[in-house]
Amino acid sequence: MIDPELRGHALAAKGFMPADEGDALYEAALEAGSRLPGLAFLEVGSYCGRSTVWLGAAARERDTVLFAVDHHRGSEENQAGWEHHDPSVVDPRVGRMDTLPVFRATVHDAGLEASVVAIVGQSPTVARHWCTPLSLLFIDGGHGVDPARADYEGWTPHVAVGGTLAIHDVFPDPAAGGRPPYEQIFLPALQSGRFELVGTTGSLRVMRCLGC
Ligand code: SAH
Ligand code: MG
Repeated sequence: MIDPELRGHALAAKGFMPADEGDALYEAALEAGSRLPGLAFLEVGSYCGRSTVWLGAAARERDTVLFAVDHHRGSEENQAGWEHHDPSVVDPRVGRMDTLPVFRATVHDAGLEASVVAIVGQSPTVARHWCTPLSLLFIDGGHGVDPARADYEGWTPHVAVGGTLAIHDVFPDPAAGGRPPYEQIFLPALQSGRFELVGTTGSLRVMRCLGC
């Protein structure tokens, strides 16, 4: 179980990660860090740093690092007029969302700056230039068809054999939520034969990389 004080920081942060799924993500990351010691963790979609605290805590525990990729301009579903919009994270100077200051405060307040490295940019651009194998990849970025597909294609090849792929907001039942994380990430991962499902908590799916 995560240190209660750190868990408090995660729960205090703005974001979309339910407590039980965050706890499961933490356990999955601890396990990945033991299985493949020394390899980094990477998260796509940090928003205000809520999931980042669970993953950063596991990274620190396993003496590794979490790369946290986000352009901090919000997904389509976070923009004004959409369901998950929060006007308090709009930068009035540019009239667009900017979650980077909030993310930074969350990571600072949780005492995780030594274990979390923010990468600010477009996920497909970062993925195209990435060449570090990962013990854990957590995908929780844009939930439209194209962003989800791009994250699957750009990032999953970087999971080391024996490493873990965690996917958030996987809803097999269309009535429960949007389909792209299920159709564009989870199903292709399963059908590729490269990943097997090892855990389910709410909309979180934890998969293990079997090889290519
Ligand atoms: N994991 C967070 C929630 C992430 S919300 C939590 O626990 O609360 C999704 C995030 O993905 C947003 O912050 C958005 O800016 C980011 N995002 C969406 N599409 C992206 C892209 N193409 N490149 C980088 N970040 C992206
Ligand atoms: Mg999510």
